[in-house]
Amino acid sequence: MKILILNAGSSSQKSCLYDLKEDSLNDHPLDPIWSANIDWTVANGQGILTVKAKGIKKIINLSFSDNRQGIAAMLDTLIQEETQVIKQLSEIKIVGHRVVHGGTDYSKATLITPEVKATIRRLIPLAPTHNPAHIEGIEAIEQLLGAIPQIAVFDTAFHSHMPLETAAYPIPYEWFEKGIRRYGFHGTSHKYCAYKAAQILNKPLTDLKLITCHLGNGCSLAAIKDGISIDTTMGFTPLEGLMMGSRSGSIDPAILIYLMREHNLTANQLDEMLNKESGLKGISGISADLRAVIQGIDQGNIRAKLALDMYIYRLRAKIGSMLATLGDLDALIFTAGVGENSAIVREKACEKFDFLGLKLDLDKNNNRPMNIDISTTQSRVRILVIHTEEDWAIAQECWHLRQSNS
Ligand code: AMP
Repeated sequence: MKILILNAGSSSQKSCLYDLKEDSLNDHPLDPIWSANIDWTVANGQGILTVKAKGIKKIINLSFSDNRQGIAAMLDTLIQEETQVIKQLSEIKIVGHRVVHGGTDYSKATLITPEVKATIRRLIPLAPTHNPAHIEGIEAIEQLLGAIPQIAVFDTAFHSHMPLETAAYPIPYEWFEKGIRRYGFHGTSHKYCAYKAAQILNKPLTDLKLITCHLGNGCSLAAIKDGISIDTTMGFTPLEGLMMGSRSGSIDPAILIYLMREHNLTANQLDEMLNKESGLKGISGISADLRAVIQGIDQGNIRAKLALDMYIYRLRAKIGSMLATLGDLDALIFTAGVGENSAIVREKACEKFDFLGLKLDLDKNNNRPMNIDISTTQSRVRILVIHTEEDWAIAQECWHLRQSNS
């Protein structure tokens, strides 16, 4: 069965096509047979479409900046020229969408109906950059592929069982009733990594206490007990928690009040500052990309060093907080761009948890580990590096939902 995955954002569109068969649903993720990505940030009013299929990488310049037109151009490459992998678009049987915000309405993958679309729209104020792009993506698919089943897989869903004491903010209770609460994000990645960890450790997920560290451009941790997320570092928005590439993570909220009162900063300016100009980028003054920050450190840049030191300090502090929620730990898991690729971040993060009996095998850590245990045999707590497979996880959700409805 051909399953198309669409991750429709405001500055990029990502998509891939899986060809799933009954026996594909074993323990190992399939590679997509086609993948495409549009980057709208390169030049004003233009986009760059990159397509990978059949061992070919093709780059197409788009002379427009409309998301819907972009999705049409992207899907054309499925059926045309050297990247063609299907004869016609009607071979696609399901489309799975990554949807960032499902509020408290959805705790699992959901078939998209007019009511579901209305809910995603209603939640736009909670995810103003993401949810409008998801609606555009869903509607573009309706236009291009007609009435095929579309499924929403929500980033918030995995965290929807967090206990109230974790989910609520200590502000007047009326605001909680109006939806000002912690939702958590990166749920598809945290969930996938928890399942994969159980597989690697060869233990039932329901016997495990895990901390998953999703460290990419955005960063979040989840405390997972018996397969359920009981705490996470992101909250009402993906801004809370850890220091990230260009996002601040948690800061004293009174700073915002001060900047508004004393420096006349507007809501939009604060938004821009906290989401785009902070984190590694804001402190180092170099980049949101950890690789560039580390290069800066190697060249003796003091602010680059401070940026990494702060990133690690905050990461350790939040690991400690997740640990306290869990009460014990079977495995610490690293995933996403930084978590999978940065040996130094893993080493420094683990350093202070020696008292737990957590011991990193430095050779394994430095040897590009992937989907393996990198702790020593004496370590009481396992340390895993897992390649996150969010698209594959969405494809699996689509398959299961389709099977249960047929
Ligand atoms: P993601 O959001 O998961 O795609 O992660 C993207 C981020 O991963 C980039 O901004 C980089 O900071 C980081 N990254 C990727 N490769 C490396 C690496 N080899 N070392 C350190 N950071 C990396």
